[in-house]
Amino acid sequence: MLLVKKQGYFSDIDTKTKFSGRIDEDFVKYQLANLKQLTFEVTDKCNLNCTYCAYGHLYGDYDQRKSSFLSFYDAKKIIDFLVPYFNSELNKSSSSTFYISFYGGEPLLGFNFIKQVVSYVSKLRINRTIKFSMTTNALLLEKYIDYLVEQDFNPN
Ligand code: SF4
Repeated sequence: MLLVKKQGYFSDIDTKTKFSGRIDEDFVKYQLANLKQLTFEVTDKCNLNCTYCAYGHLYGDYDQRKSSFLSFYDAKKIIDFLVPYFNSELNKSSSSTFYISFYGGEPLLGFNFIKQVVSYVSKLRINRTIKFSMTTNALLLEKYIDYLVEQDFNPN
């Protein structure tokens, strides 16, 4: 792993240099209205401890895990912020799928949060086809598989 790190993997991109002068307000609004995917980091907590994990000490922006969870209140604010963009004339993607994804840590440790988001979004009137997806280590999959199949979740 250390050899791979020496070759420049796990390091940060200098976004200031990379995107300088290429992004303005109209560009951001258009991107929001045509967003392809919204990913919620449900929690930084995990029931595994993989060496290569993006939260691991090998990365330059390593940040110790705090076992924190995203609240439905905060997720709802983001969704409510996006809905007017989806329903505006800037949206040119009404026929394409918009994915709401759940990521971690291990997202299934925050199953109630996932259920709240799915339930809330399913009741909204949005000018996009919405699908759900998840990145999971599968340790808790057996417990929740019926719900995930019922809601037509895609694996990531
Ligand atoms: S399962 Fe994923 S989130 Fe958990 S420690 Fe491994 S790589 Fe990290």
